[in-house]
Amino acid sequence: MTKRVLILPGDGIGPEIVAEAVKVLDRLAGEGLDIELDEGLVGGSAYDATGTPLPESTLQMAREADAVLLGAVGGPKWEPLDIAVRPEKGLLGLRAGLGLFSNLRPAILYPQLANASSLRAEIVAGLDIMIVRELTGGIYFGQPRGVRTLETGERQGFNTLVYAEHEIERIVRSACDIAMKRGRRVCSVDKANVLECTELWREVATRVVKQEYPEIELSHMYVDNAAMQLIKWPKQFDVIVTTNMFGDILSDAAAMLTGSIGMLPSASLNAKGQGMYEPIHGSAPDIAGKGVANPLATILSVSMMLRYSLDEAATADRIDAAVVEVLDQGVRTPDIMSDGMTEVDCAGMGDAVLAAL
Ligand code: NAD
Repeated sequence: MTKRVLILPGDGIGPEIVAEAVKVLDRLAGEGLDIELDEGLVGGSAYDATGTPLPESTLQMAREADAVLLGAVGGPKWEPLDIAVRPEKGLLGLRAGLGLFSNLRPAILYPQLANASSLRAEIVAGLDIMIVRELTGGIYFGQPRGVRTLETGERQGFNTLVYAEHEIERIVRSACDIAMKRGRRVCSVDKANVLECTELWREVATRVVKQEYPEIELSHMYVDNAAMQLIKWPKQFDVIVTTNMFGDILSDAAAMLTGSIGMLPSASLNAKGQGMYEPIHGSAPDIAGKGVANPLATILSVSMMLRYSLDEAATADRIDAAVVEVLDQGVRTPDIMSDGMTEVDCAGMGDAVLAAL
């Protein structure tokens, strides 16, 4: 059956990097991959054209698609706007509208780029970890929340950390399903020594793995220790599963271990396996329009899409191998350039990946 992919270029470098990923999809379609591409507006460019960062037509197309490929949204032009219509609202609306509760953030450091990390090469070369972050619950959404005035007249800010059992079960399953395709090790990160909510998290994670994934080796770690271990010896991890806020912080730390923001893809999945795929970086207004952005994170997002939403693991492997080959050839965009390598622009990198495919 034909799979439908919605392309949302977005703002800043979004259209430039997405164009290179679309070249890859077009090539695969030409070779027989049964996909159909649609294109929609999101973010600041959608606001400019329609007055809202997430037009109803975009959300409708996203609901009907098997997967969404997003570039990036935002930029200084739209910062003065009211928060309700800022570009980022388009992203949040897509996540909520599609029920994308599972956020997959790989941190991979290709040995060819080990010198880009702020850590010593032997600590990070060959790093390959997957952080699975709960995306639609926890303290970012819990009620009640707000700022209230106490009887003393002092103001008090408050938020609520809540997780129901079914929310923990489904994110742990999501992590285990991924671990089954990798090293079969899951580390659940919590703060069970202080927070009752994550005490429940630990209990439910233990039950789900014991009952449903006996092949998986489950460990637990407090979030403060996990932050230390990520810097000390990141290669000890295979899959990390954690709450929305802990995942937000740990996944950025893990991404920065690699030192190459233009290389990292991400995925957000719902219960039906439908997903939104995007590079972890933003719209990079400082280099937008110059044609020099690194499109590899977006091309690797296509690989994740093939693997996790389109059931095309072998094709995903081909893309991953093409990226490795291009790095082996010494082809580099400016952000990952080093002595003795060949510098190319955004389109040049896309062409190199196509040639390697
Ligand atoms: P950013 O990720 O856009 O840029 C940070 C730095 O990394 C910049 O120097 C940029 O040039 C560089 N960079 C990023 N992607 C690159 C690539 N593919 N190739 C080469 N260099 C790259 O983060 P920022 O500057 O903090 O944010 C810029 C805008 O993006 C803001 O409006 C922010 O809100 C938005 N943003 C959007 C998303 C998203 O769409 N998911 C995520 C983060 C930030």
